[in-house]
Amino acid sequence: MRAAVLNAPHERLRIERIDTPDALEPHEVRVATAAVGICHSDLHVIDGRVARPMPVVLGHEASGVVTEVGAAVRDVAVGDHVVACFVVFCGECRMCRAGRPAMCQNREATMRKADATPRLSRVGREVHQWTNIAGFAEEMVLHRNAVTVIDARMPLDLAAMLGCAVATGVGSARKVAAVAPGDHVVVIGAGGVGLNVCQGAAAAGAASVIALDRSDERLALASERFGASHVINTASVVDAASVIRDITDGGADHAFEAVGVPALIDLALDATARGGSVWAVGVFGDDARIAFSAGQLHSGKGVHGVRAGSLQPQTDLPLLVGDFLAGRLELEALAGRRIGLDEINDGVADLVAGVGARTLVVF
Ligand SMILES: [Zn+2]
Ligand SMILES: [Zn+2]
Repeated sequence: MRAAVLNAPHERLRIERIDTPDALEPHEVRVATAAVGICHSDLHVIDGRVARPMPVVLGHEASGVVTEVGAAVRDVAVGDHVVACFVVFCGECRMCRAGRPAMCQNREATMRKADATPRLSRVGREVHQWTNIAGFAEEMVLHRNAVTVIDARMPLDLAAMLGCAVATGVGSARKVAAVAPGDHVVVIGAGGVGLNVCQGAAAAGAASVIALDRSDERLALASERFGASHVINTASVVDAASVIRDITDGGADHAFEAVGVPALIDLALDATARGGSVWAVGVFGDDARIAFSAGQLHSGKGVHGVRAGSLQPQTDLPLLVGDFLAGRLELEALAGRRIGLDEINDGVADLVAGVGARTLVVF
């Protein structure tokens, strides 16, 4: 099968023939990929900000149709439509037993053993499977817990975005921060994740949802389709925090950093009221350090890490599908161009340039 391979940081992705094993292990499924989103986390590996073993097949928000199931898989069947999600969980560790699969402590249990045939290989040599998904490929061999079966009425191209951007964004607002009616909310970064924080906060009844970005195109999307009540273009507004304090009568209750730039945590703290919370949703580089005045803590403010919106894939993803089918979740406006696998480097360039919301590779 064909896959887009990253052979070294800063290189273009190369479309290559990649082998998957003929025989599945008992807890695996084989999926014909339908669509996969190109996400900033993929970009971080391409540009070397996040170091990972090479060669690697990236892509971690994908959808597809199951073509084969392993001998021990009882609850996924050939023909099922699935979302592949990077929250792959063992199901048995302390965190999994406590209903917190996003914090799974034993993801190794969902991978193949080192001496087994790798899930992806090229002339007998292993090609790494990014986040246990590797969706930039025509076919995915996955642990059963990497997939969630969804309603077949859900369009598969839009479904791909549920596994990362939507789950992380909506989950951060609804589940992690538990935004309440009347709260003032700031969202820094109106990309795939940030727009979904906006719609999650708006659906939760936030009094204001203030989106910040450097792109007027994205800010227009935020206000027209994703529930932002105010937008601030940080390329032209010098002191965004004071504008926010004016809008919110003293500062926001929640500020979400959805970009992954350390200095924006400082901005988020300045934009929050006493007792407010800053949520670090963006993915920071391996070497990133965050500095802020300790006085912010004396104001009762907190900075909290977020992992995958605390997603519980098996229950949350079907709920998101239900929201979409009922007209309560915006996905159409989230999807930018649809491109083929051969054009994937154009999609990466879109992301670098900040064009559109989410470029989708469709198969
Ligand atoms: Zn992602
Ligand atoms: Zn676990």
